Amino acid sequence: MKQLGKYSLGVGDRFGHQAKAQLKAIMEMKKHGIDITPVWNKSNREHEIIGTHPDDVRIEADAATKELNWKNNYFVDADHINLNTVEKFIPSSDFFTIDVAAYIGKEADKKDIEAFLDKCEKYYGELSIPGISHKFIITKELVKGVADHYLFAAQKASEIYKIIEGKKGKGNFITEVSMDEVPNPQTPIELFFILFMLAEEKVPVQTIAPRFSGRFNKGVNYVGDPSQFAKEFEEDILVLDYVVKEFGIPAEIKLSVHSGSDKFSIYPHIGSIIKKHNKGIHVKTAGTTWLEEVIGLSMADGEALAFVKAIYSKALDKIEELCAPYADVIDIDSTKLPSKEEVNNWSAEKMAATLRHITDNKDYNPNLRQLVHVGYKLAALQIDKYNNLLEKYEDIISSCVFENIYDRHLCRLFNI
Ligand SMILES: [Zn+2]
Repeated sequence: MKQLGKYSLGVGDRFGHQAKAQLKAIMEMKKHGIDITPVWNKSNREHEIIGTHPDDVRIEADAATKELNWKNNYFVDADHINLNTVEKFIPSSDFFTIDVAAYIGKEADKKDIEAFLDKCEKYYGELSIPGISHKFIITKELVKGVADHYLFAAQKASEIYKIIEGKKGKGNFITEVSMDEVPNPQTPIELFFILFMLAEEKVPVQTIAPRFSGRFNKGVNYVGDPSQFAKEFEEDILVLDYVVKEFGIPAEIKLSVHSGSDKFSIYPHIGSIIKKHNKGIHVKTAGTTWLEEVIGLSMADGEALAFVKAIYSKALDKIEELCAPYADVIDIDSTKLPSKEEVNNWSAEKMAATLRHITDNKDYNPNLRQLVHVGYKLAALQIDKYNNLLEKYEDIISSCVFENIYDRHLCRLFNI
């Protein structure tokens, strides 16, 4: 079976120019003795907005790894696919994030639910999971609640998995199941029963992406109590340990944190907990590559800065349209957005500092950052011009991409 390795980082590259800079950041970690498997992910929605095809991600990943002489594993992730979108990702992907969000809450067949409840009978009463100090009280009602909510989704995961397995062959790809894009978090005990369902449905899940509590807004810091996150995250890790022996889930299973990028306040917790338990992790951080491109263009000044200012101006005009698809994962206070006129007078440094995710910089503005984050469509609408600028100012942009992944993400995660 293909294995992801202990540590893996999912990176996104919407416009397909930054794979080398991202890989360089991962290579830099080798100097600290930390091996990380790179995974390039791009969702169907991003492909549709930019006008790219999943094959393009494969071409970029192959080229970057070849050019930098990367000899270890790397993967191309069909990010958040479901029954409607899986097909076109199959040839070029070897990592599949099976997204069951759309199927959660839909009820499975009554007799399937009954059959699952029967299998769970042995867990009724007090359940101890090694490493977790408190006991879980398991009742039939609790399990029925989980089955009503998640069994249909587990069955759909199996259906999608079988389509992929039928085309690619067993063991030739990584299987992730994601359920992060839903309003309510899954508790550790819900995760336990969901993994039982996936095992029963014969989905060899290697990474699982739950919805954690707190808000994971796009491209800005975690909103919530990091210590509460840490408690939940640690219990989830211990649940995974237990299900490997209990349900025969693949031994390498690990948590996948769909970070929405830049969850800096929880990174040290993730780092210390995986260290404490000697566990691996997959962290997916995607969209901020586009923001680093915009920051790099701002710093390049002249025509590049003018392009960025024009994007911001159009984003203000189209704010509702741009924000609508991301309503659940952004929080923009529009009263704190500077006017077009004000921004047009800004220097290169001021523009870059306003966008860059350094929270103690007085110029940093998370509202403007989030608006530009969801505004990548505006660059896609003038793709030739944008691609030309990316090529012309490659040096300054790639240093921003590198610094973002290496300094702000990996060093925080691994306490360097
Ligand atoms: Zn996700």
